[in-house]
Amino acid sequence: MELSEDVLEVQKWVHEFAVDVIRPAAHEWDEREQTPWPIIQEAAKIGLYGLEFWGTQWLDPSGLAVPVVMEELFWGDAGIGLALVGTTLASVAVVANGTPEQVGEWAPQMFGTESEPAVAAFCSSEPDAGSDVGAMRTRAVYDEASDEWVLNGTKTWATNGGIAAVHVVVAVVDPSLGTRGQASFVIGPGTKGLSQGQKFAKHGIRASHTAEVVLDDVRLPGSCLLGGKDKLDERLARARERQRTGGASRGNASMATFEASRPSVGAQAVGIARAAYEYALGYAQQRVQFGKPIVENQAVAFQLADMKVNVDAARLLVWRAAWMARNSKPFTAAEGSQSKLFAGETAVRTTEKAIQILGGNGYTREYPVERMARDAKIYTIFEGTSEIQRLVIGRTISGAALR
Ligand SMILES: Cc1cc2nc3c(=O)[nH]c(=O)nc-3n(C[C@H](O)[C@H](O)[C@H](O)COP(=O)(O)OP(=O)(O)OC[C@H]3O[C@@H](n4cnc5c(N)ncnc54)[C@H](O)[C@@H]3O)c2cc1C
Repeated sequence: MELSEDVLEVQKWVHEFAVDVIRPAAHEWDEREQTPWPIIQEAAKIGLYGLEFWGTQWLDPSGLAVPVVMEELFWGDAGIGLALVGTTLASVAVVANGTPEQVGEWAPQMFGTESEPAVAAFCSSEPDAGSDVGAMRTRAVYDEASDEWVLNGTKTWATNGGIAAVHVVVAVVDPSLGTRGQASFVIGPGTKGLSQGQKFAKHGIRASHTAEVVLDDVRLPGSCLLGGKDKLDERLARARERQRTGGASRGNASMATFEASRPSVGAQAVGIARAAYEYALGYAQQRVQFGKPIVENQAVAFQLADMKVNVDAARLLVWRAAWMARNSKPFTAAEGSQSKLFAGETAVRTTEKAIQILGGNGYTREYPVERMARDAKIYTIFEGTSEIQRLVIGRTISGAALR
């Protein structure tokens, strides 16, 4: 498999940014546990942040530009990487569900400008609705007289929640329809009633801001419903009809969006795993015990061999799924989930092995593999836990109604 000239070029450019700007700052922002605005500004200045940059990568016909960019950024550092790419999740929700007018209005605001970059948040999870999206409680009620939607509820775990210029919020519009009674709304800058709740102190990816978002009588014009009211009414009517007749479901659109975005998340995990593998290999070649480099012990070299095989296998699963998504090949065996599951677990295993290979040094904050291991763990939790990925894959390959 060969990457195109364009993709190779962007890979080299992003790698240089990761080496020169991200890596030297990784430790500092992990300790500060704050959004690294100076780095976002630097990326924006050189065109490595923003709608135009991501638009170009999304349009790459092979589908591989996005995972390649993700891998390089997260090879640099995962916390800073997520601060740089967290906005893409919200922007994908707008691009996938919005009308062309909504995309034109909101997508640029999400990233801000070259001189004043902004971030966006995608808010679906709630305290009682994590894996179980159907348990969502945030309500959106339509006020026909004013053509406004009124939102109330509490979102949690939102990446960039409360500091975002634009929040995309999923809310229940018809509680009787479960996940099919949900819709997505865009909340623009300075909207009254939206506030940040608790900011979480985390185990890893600490340069990425994660917080609750509280919605208290947030009033939005009708135009903030993604896709528009007519499309929503049609969708709800179909869902009610299916509920009445017990007809087969055509699949949930937001689940399809998640499935298609999973390879990008897998690619982030590949970046962390590769970074840990490379660091451990270099260390094992240098560190001498019993009169020889520790890599000359089969026990150490075998660990490195397994790390390398897993990183490469994870990347191939990610690239396959990314290529399939971009070229409209149906995921008949949940290939998106496969890639995220394997890459996430590879990142956890590989970073843990890297700590072992570094011995005592691996366990300290003086060396980066400890941070990488903390960062890796989120990849078996967010964007669908490993168990949920197995559930999706299991259901897809067997047709069984697994729970
Ligand atoms: C740092 C961070 C950033 C995040 N960013 C965002 C964001 O930007 N936007 C957003 O909306 N959300 C975000 N999330 C939320 C994330 O997607 C959820 O944490 C995740 O979906 C899991 O939900 P939960 O934490 O409620 O765990 P739960 O759903 O309570 O799961 C707990 C455990 O039970 C297991 N489990 C649950 N159901 C089943 C089942 N049916 N079968 C087997 N096992 C099961 C899970 O796999 C898990 O191990 C973020 C989370 C974190 C920690």
